Amino acid sequence: MPDLRVDVAVVGGGIVGVATAMAVVSGSRVSLAIVEKEARLAAHQTGNNSGVIHSGLYYKPGSLKARNCTSGREALLRFCESHGIRAERCGKVVVATSPAQLPALDELRRRGEANGLTGIRRLGPEEIREVEPHAAGIAGLFVPQTGIVDYVRVTEEYAQVVRAAGGEVWLSAPVRRIARDRDGMVLETGRGTVGCRFLINCAGLHSDRVARLAGADPGVRIVPFRGEYYSLVPDRHDLVRNLIYPVPDPEFPFLGVHFTRMIGGGVEAGPNAVLAFKREGYSRLSFSLADTLGTFAYPGFWRMASSYWRMGFGEYWRSFSKPAFVKALQRLMPEISSRDLEPGGAGVRAQALESSGKLLDDFRIVEAERQVHVLNAPSPAATASISIGEAIAGIARRNFALS
Ligand SMILES: Cc1cc2nc3c(=O)[nH]c(=O)nc-3n(C[C@H](O)[C@H](O)[C@H](O)COP(=O)(O)OP(=O)(O)OC[C@H]3O[C@@H](n4cnc5c(N)ncnc54)[C@H](O)[C@@H]3O)c2cc1C
Repeated sequence: MPDLRVDVAVVGGGIVGVATAMAVVSGSRVSLAIVEKEARLAAHQTGNNSGVIHSGLYYKPGSLKARNCTSGREALLRFCESHGIRAERCGKVVVATSPAQLPALDELRRRGEANGLTGIRRLGPEEIREVEPHAAGIAGLFVPQTGIVDYVRVTEEYAQVVRAAGGEVWLSAPVRRIARDRDGMVLETGRGTVGCRFLINCAGLHSDRVARLAGADPGVRIVPFRGEYYSLVPDRHDLVRNLIYPVPDPEFPFLGVHFTRMIGGGVEAGPNAVLAFKREGYSRLSFSLADTLGTFAYPGFWRMASSYWRMGFGEYWRSFSKPAFVKALQRLMPEISSRDLEPGGAGVRAQALESSGKLLDDFRIVEAERQVHVLNAPSPAATASISIGEAIAGIARRNFALS
């Protein structure tokens, strides 16, 4: 007999797992448990991100990212308001620093408008300085819908909603094995066993492994990319009013180093994107043999590396050299210097990679018998969490015939 028996087990207590759990239990009598390996919720991607409520500017119209970001952003802001969580819709500027970036800047505006954003303003050099007095560029966009929030606080509040509806939250419960039984599956965790009829896998950096434990073929490998931040020293916080972003490289799934005012105070600069040698490796010295071999033994890694090696070296160089990181920031803000920055935190992105070497850009949700696996939930998944959670819960309701 398992220690706990529920209809639905959600593996992973990050923002996607907890938002999904919230959607599954809302208005239903389904019994549910969130099973999280750490002693607290939101310990990985969710708790180490930039805290930005994305607008929907970047995403290909019609993609899951575009649809869920737009509806999720508004749902998140409503949730924060009704649960007393501070969130600010402060707007951001995207700054082009060379003529070569102007077509991409125009494309961003076109995408943003196609994704329903209103009020995007094209800025000239003077207007950039009116919005952000210390930023410099040849042209820019002001996007009013972007905001900031604390995603750990949001995840904890989602969990309160789950508990209030009778859901269980099992912390310190790493799922190590998944066995079949007559009623469905039994998850063997570090804390005991959980029997469930249905499984939803939202395990982020370990989602491919949890899929395999459950007997499903993930079809992708998670490759970890660390993003390192610097913080502005306190007496230089006034260099940044809100958020200052570069024009992203359309070939690369990350946004480029930017300045972000945090909702709890302070300003962060970053993150870069370096291949990590450990899935939850937050420092340059973090290393796991199993994770590294897992990456290098995957044919898709070498195919990806042959396309991105030049960019990869650039990111490594910026990781080890503060002057190189500062130089990247000076493109957006020429007056910033090394003295203005102190080391900040880091986050690790779970980037799904196909065996063809393609870095998956959109969310990837894979359905299997009695199971749903969320195998790629990169940025803006925190912004879009309520919307993605509802979409996953919808798949679960349909496939599992939940009432
Ligand atoms: C550096 C960085 C900056 C970002 N900035 C933003 C931003 O500003 N705005 C935005 O919208 N998005 C941003 N993102 C993206 C966003 O943070 C993620 O898309 C989102 O947090 C993903 O949530 P998740 O629940 O899927 O993953 P996670 O938060 O990683 O949660 C997965 C959970 O699964 C648990 N788990 C794993 N394996 C097991 C197991 N075997 N048993 C039990 N539990 C397990 C983990 O411990 C973890 O808690 C950023 C991401 C990073 C890394």
